[in-house]
Amino acid sequence: MKRGFLNSSKVKKQRLYAQNESKPASTEYFKDIEGLPKLAYGRVEDTSLPSDYDASWKPESMSSDASKTHYGEEVVGTTTIPPRFLDGPPDPDGHSEWLFWGPTKVKVVGLPGYPRPIPKPTHPNMCVVRSTPDKGLGVFATRDIKVGELIFSERPLLVVPTGIRAMSPIPKHYSQEKKLQIAMFQQEKSVEPAVDRMDEAQKKAFMALANSHKEDGSGPLYGIIRTNGIGLGNLGDGPKPPAGQYYPPQFMYTAICELGSRINHSCMPNVKFSFKLSSFSLQSSASKDIKAGEELFYSYCPVLQTAADRRKDLAPYGFECKCPACLHATPATDKLRAEFLDRIRRVVQAWSEKCKSPVHDITMLDPLLELQKDVTREGLDSQGQYPFLTEVIATAYMSLGMVGQAQRYQEVKHRWDSMAKDED
Ligand SMILES: [Zn+2]
Repeated sequence: MKRGFLNSSKVKKQRLYAQNESKPASTEYFKDIEGLPKLAYGRVEDTSLPSDYDASWKPESMSSDASKTHYGEEVVGTTTIPPRFLDGPPDPDGHSEWLFWGPTKVKVVGLPGYPRPIPKPTHPNMCVVRSTPDKGLGVFATRDIKVGELIFSERPLLVVPTGIRAMSPIPKHYSQEKKLQIAMFQQEKSVEPAVDRMDEAQKKAFMALANSHKEDGSGPLYGIIRTNGIGLGNLGDGPKPPAGQYYPPQFMYTAICELGSRINHSCMPNVKFSFKLSSFSLQSSASKDIKAGEELFYSYCPVLQTAADRRKDLAPYGFECKCPACLHATPATDKLRAEFLDRIRRVVQAWSEKCKSPVHDITMLDPLLELQKDVTREGLDSQGQYPFLTEVIATAYMSLGMVGQAQRYQEVKHRWDSMAKDED
């Protein structure tokens, strides 16, 4: 789960649905925006709509019936999830507004036990929002947190489709830039009813979030979504991906959260997000040990790329990353990131070969510990492949009879495993 999908060129280049599938009427609109220029950011000179375009356009009634689960492909609706009833108390875990494509609603509300309560951390208030010296607000740990521990769960304020979608046909005679402008305008108008449905506290929290897209024609709501959206890999439109895989970015939904969206970026993250469909909630867990007082970070871009590529990905957020990995980036650290997955894979393979030999000596640990040191220094011990390395180190220590050391490394693997088990 990461930010940045809204700015990904992939979102625009790929067709939303394969051509041989039965196409909902609305995919005609998606087709209209194929091949459009990449979403702009920064200062865009002309963000006006074409003078002959009807700027009073509004989406058709989008309010959905809370008790209805199945909708047709022609519907784009807004729903409060879980439903909120005028004569009843609000859900103790809060509510989200969800802008959904018709057939997708049942993927959540049709789940057994829906709406389940959101998972609770072992301690309340494990983090707090406060000012940072240079990044506005940030989220900080209030106690020591172990890798794998749930820090907080929350129902998002808003969940919307990730990719830009035109909600009604765009006349073909406009330039590509103007078509994109119209699509963004329609996007903004489609989100308005969802934000209108929020209660005052939610609306205030939403509008208080950062917006790094104030001058590129995004619109005030869509700008906040582009800046703060967290991609939900397991909630998407169209056919369900195979087990263990995410929806392609252009099919995914994105969540804007009161707390999760406040977590700042670092290329050395310490937080991992996951989304539970049955409770419609975002979980933030520690992807490495965190000390009380430390700031929580997650990465708004893929971390396994060079510092220059990360800088490019982060530009739409309007800041330059000053994390230690960026400040001290070298060709060697770029190489380590690029080769990280391969090196872990190689170590695991080599070790399974070595296990066949009855003779073990302590020097066999050297390359493993050296890789572990490099990876940790670069902050890649937050990545999901890291526990495979710690498991190999644990096995190596065990084969040398160094049980205490083995257990220390094995625990990291166990903690990651139990975190994965908790995910939908
Ligand atoms: Zn960085």
